[in-house]
Amino acid sequence: MPDLKSLLEVQLYMGKLKALEIKSREEQQHVELKKLRGEINQGRAAFEKLKETYSGLKNRLKSKEMSAAWSREQADSLGQKLYSGAIINIKEIETNSKKLESLRSAVSQIEDEILEMMEEKDELRARLADIAASITHKTEAYRKMKKLLLTRQQQAKSELDKYQDQINRLIEQLEPRLWSMYQEMQKKLPDPLARVEKETCMGCRMGITYGELRLLKQGEGLVHCGNCGRILYWEGQK
Ligand SMILES: [Zn+2]
Repeated sequence: MPDLKSLLEVQLYMGKLKALEIKSREEQQHVELKKLRGEINQGRAAFEKLKETYSGLKNRLKSKEMSAAWSREQADSLGQKLYSGAIINIKEIETNSKKLESLRSAVSQIEDEILEMMEEKDELRARLADIAASITHKTEAYRKMKKLLLTRQQQAKSELDKYQDQINRLIEQLEPRLWSMYQEMQKKLPDPLARVEKETCMGCRMGITYGELRLLKQGEGLVHCGNCGRILYWEGQK
């Protein structure tokens, strides 16, 4: 009687092997990891963009400060001129007083603007720090997840190898003719060997005939399911 019990074991291990292969392929395209990498890249892009805004603001602030200093200087020198009594002409005093007033109001306006810009600068700096912290945090999480994934892949690989070894050992013990017939049938059916339970072929779930059952009980040759064509395996078989 052909060794169907070992063949069934081969079939079971091959099923497990396939499931493991699918699982490890799915893990390789880890969704979480991809998502995290996308977020890190987005964070970096946002950081660069904000940094540009920040340095633009810094430059504008610098030139504002220069213009404030210039106006202040102008106002100071005009003020000194006025209060020193160097100008005696009333008309000239009036004109210069107005000029001084407008210079002082310009200075105060620029100073207000500078304050606002400084606040904006602080805000931008805080946001940059937040983004940088979030990138660091996510990069760390990414590294950890990647490491875990690699470990799991190695485990899966050794498990796959283990199953493959078992399969190879079992195949070596099989009759070569039975094995090549099984492989031929596998081109059409993933599981060409079917258990018989309660007079039913577990491959196609159809009842087997009395004749097929009798042949199985005699246990002399291969019996195929009259419905699906699978090789039938009955537990009572020796
Ligand atoms: Zn069947």
